[in-house]
Amino acid sequence: MNKKIYSKIEESLQKGEEICWINDKKIDFSAYDSPFETSDIDNAENRLHRFLSYIQAEFPEVKDGIIESPLQEISQMKNAMNEKYNLIIKGRLMIKRDDLLPIAGSVKARGGIYEILKYAEKLAIENNLITPEDDYIRFREPKFKELFSKYTVQVGSTGNLGLSIGIMSAAMGFNAVVHMSDDAKEWKKKRLRDNGVKVIEHTCNYEKAVDSGRKESANDKYSYFVDDERSKDLFLGYSVAGRRLKKQLCDMKIQVNEKSPLFVYIPCGIGGAPGGITYGLKTEFGDNVHCFFVEPTNAPCMLLGMVSGLHDKICVQDIGISGKTEADGLAVGRPSMFIGKIMDNILSGLFTVKDNKLVEYLKLLYNTENIYLEPSATAAFKCIEDIMSNIACLDYLNKHKNIDVNNITHIVWATGGKFVPEEIKKQHLNNMN
Ligand SMILES: *Cc1c(COP(=O)(O)O)cnc(C)c1O
Repeated sequence: MNKKIYSKIEESLQKGEEICWINDKKIDFSAYDSPFETSDIDNAENRLHRFLSYIQAEFPEVKDGIIESPLQEISQMKNAMNEKYNLIIKGRLMIKRDDLLPIAGSVKARGGIYEILKYAEKLAIENNLITPEDDYIRFREPKFKELFSKYTVQVGSTGNLGLSIGIMSAAMGFNAVVHMSDDAKEWKKKRLRDNGVKVIEHTCNYEKAVDSGRKESANDKYSYFVDDERSKDLFLGYSVAGRRLKKQLCDMKIQVNEKSPLFVYIPCGIGGAPGGITYGLKTEFGDNVHCFFVEPTNAPCMLLGMVSGLHDKICVQDIGISGKTEADGLAVGRPSMFIGKIMDNILSGLFTVKDNKLVEYLKLLYNTENIYLEPSATAAFKCIEDIMSNIACLDYLNKHKNIDVNNITHIVWATGGKFVPEEIKKQHLNNMN
């Protein structure tokens, strides 16, 4: 990246301005040299499939044992946004309801649960308790729990990854330890403790919480650390979303092609969830899906890593940004070690949003569609505003001449909210600003 452009972006970031950044390093997907194989996603999907009967028996609320969320159109919200922000949103506006994902109540159910299942399967196979041909409902048998009780699973989290890893690990019989950063909400800690998970509170940011977990876990062969900064398993668990979404669009008879593409908007913290989902979508739809991330103006770690080219070698605090945001799921100062490098060639752009907008979207969505999301999850609505009004975005649309803007399917990825306690929901909804 050109030094001048970088300085300009850095200055805007430091001022806390909202930014629309279009990624000029994106290339045709056919020319993209992927670090993963399609078979890696196949393996992840097949593994989730092997666990269907177990999940269904252990968590009866999970329909058919498939941890998946609905896709729905939100035309009332579209009308309300047009009016409030003086826009003309063209095309169809939809929401992917990962806020409803069972067990974890957030997008973290995809990656987190997958990684725990993979680890449990590995231990069970090594100890001759199961083969991949068996019915995995057997994972509920006492001898599995007995084996897993010798092991501890640890993770560092601002909240939602902890909920996903903690609740799943505890259900399978592991000892679960979650290292929480000071951004973590009280109710998330309580929910974990109520589920038999040990919560260690750190008075430090996310990066340090992850570091504590990693250190505590190292050199102990009975301890497994889920590493949000590095994990390929989390990534592949998230990536299965691509083929699941394809099937949903197919069932709804929504066509995706060059003229009628998908525009997908995903809130970004460390990058694992949006990165994995984007990768999964790209392998299904190639150039017919355009993916955008959104980060808080106070924690734009992925944007900083990508525009500087330094990725995990720079954090927002290095340029004087606090990393503090009401969007606890996005309160990350340093991006993943490997996601940004993958996104360099496939991400279309990245936007930032101020905290006060999050509550605004939260209320608007609740009042029009009766959908409640946690603040982090509403961030993606900023992308809709930008795509329809920002000059850099209009230029992006113009460059893709074959797109018929009236036929774009916009998908806002709602990443969390299901388990937010009623009294906190009320606080968010009453907080008028
Ligand atoms: C974790 C999280 C994200 C972002 O995922 P990363 O893997 O950290 O980028 C977005 N929204 C919510 C609600 C989250 O909990």
